[in-house]
Amino acid sequence: MSNELTAQDLEHFGGELRKILHRATGTTDQIEGESLDLGGGGLDTQGDAGADAEFEEVDLDSLGVEEAATEAAAAALKRISDGTYGRCTECSGWIPRGRLEVVPYAPLCVSCQEAAEEEA
Ligand SMILES: [Zn+2]
Repeated sequence: MSNELTAQDLEHFGGELRKILHRATGTTDQIEGESLDLGGGGLDTQGDAGADAEFEEVDLDSLGVEEAATEAAAAALKRISDGTYGRCTECSGWIPRGRLEVVPYAPLCVSCQEAAEEEA
């Protein structure tokens, strides 16, 4: 079964990623519309103000985790613009959609993530 993401999926996950960045930086104005032009033209950066509540808070309490998530989210947005979003940066396999729903900035597929965690 293909896990390929549609343009609609990319828009959805792009929105989630921007929310993560907004949350982490606290500067919504600065990010929106700037430097995050994804080139798709159809992404509405203004329309998600009311949707924040539906995003489940990931546990970012640990020191450094929030920063890492912010960087990961920024990198993931770049992958959307590069057209590689949803692919494992390690093995280029598709990252399961369900995994992206939980961690939209996940750079690795499940098995590569597990391998990385074992190494750590
Ligand atoms: Zn992988």
